[in-house]
Amino acid sequence: MRRSFIEVAADSHFPIQNLPYGVFRPRQGGSPRIGVAIGEYVLDLSVLDEAGLFDATSVGGKKIFHQPSLNRFMALGRPVWREVREQIQRLLDAAEPTLRDDAALRSKAFFRQHEVEMLLPAEIGDYTDFYASKDHATNVGIMFRGKENALMPNWTHLPVGYHGRSSSIVLSGTDVRRPLGQMKPGDAVAPVFGPCRQLDFELEMACLIGPGNEQGKPIAVERAEDHIFGLVLLNDWSARDIQAWEYQPLGPFLAKNFATSISPWVVTLEALEPFRVSGPKQDPAPLPYLRTTAPGSFDIQLEVYLKGEKMEEPQRITRSNFRYLYWSMAQQIAHHTIGGCNLRTGDLLASGTISGPEKESRGCLLELAWRGLEPLQMNNGEQRVWLEDGDELTITGWCQGDGYRVGFGEVTGKILPALAWPE
Ligand code: CA
Repeated sequence: MRRSFIEVAADSHFPIQNLPYGVFRPRQGGSPRIGVAIGEYVLDLSVLDEAGLFDATSVGGKKIFHQPSLNRFMALGRPVWREVREQIQRLLDAAEPTLRDDAALRSKAFFRQHEVEMLLPAEIGDYTDFYASKDHATNVGIMFRGKENALMPNWTHLPVGYHGRSSSIVLSGTDVRRPLGQMKPGDAVAPVFGPCRQLDFELEMACLIGPGNEQGKPIAVERAEDHIFGLVLLNDWSARDIQAWEYQPLGPFLAKNFATSISPWVVTLEALEPFRVSGPKQDPAPLPYLRTTAPGSFDIQLEVYLKGEKMEEPQRITRSNFRYLYWSMAQQIAHHTIGGCNLRTGDLLASGTISGPEKESRGCLLELAWRGLEPLQMNNGEQRVWLEDGDELTITGWCQGDGYRVGFGEVTGKILPALAWPE
């Protein structure tokens, strides 16, 4: 197994096999730049570039890493990503002296993770949210329409999605204010206004688009992964009561646009490759433009933790897996573009809530507490049906290798009380 001269614990998310990209600013000062996570450290790629260590690659000397976002790098495409990854892996290898034995360069290039402030990894132009988990769609369908009509007739034929809002995408660690809005409780004759009473999270993952496509030129499903730079964890905060009142006939609007949180480290498809698996069998067979035989999923273990203000430690409330998703990312991209829509570098495509077949693998409170009928029991005696003010919600995920992990770190956020606002 390949090892770095940097000490990395077996349960660390960031061994030399991973090397996720992120954008950071040193807390001591300086402009934003791009780095990779390795063990407890962040390796500053702009320093390596200035030292000429990328000169043998296509990015050397072009200031690709001295940027406030990954967009310029992501636009270059997979052959360049591979070349750069191989060079970073070589430089971090235990047997490679260039960086290992150069104390002056090392002291400039490595930061402890607490010495840096992470920033949003990309300039995200457009954000799309899919609805790709069959278990999630079925559970929600049963709650709202009954068992017989759980899945809408289109669901097994196309990846259902909607266009979200990129302006309110925030980085992990950003507090989320409970939204105000209009809702119509079941027993009310008229809608009411006030703080959302049914605030929820959604366990999701999302891919960042590398090279985009020209408008009018769809991306074929077999080539779709060439357009994926990497994946992050995503929490699609949701106001269920606002959504229930507003969503017909055009879908969610304010219920989903107040905040979406993502994790800072982008894990590349190259790092995920050893964990590639087939998704669930698709029946009926999709139409030809969505049909592919290549395994299009990854074995990524996902966990969700909740910590209330009165709880001493976070409690795990969900264990799920990315591989449960029915529609693959490649199929989502093929569908998204088939009518001619152009994706652009930095676009974010989210999977939709990732629920599994078991009760403990449900990916949101709506399902976990079954719309309030089965409150979630917390270890300190409290119950949860929806998120309360002060609750901190954390999603983490990783692939388990033989003696190492390729992980995503975490995406976390805490609920602040709603603004005071006249009714
Ligand atoms: Ca969602």
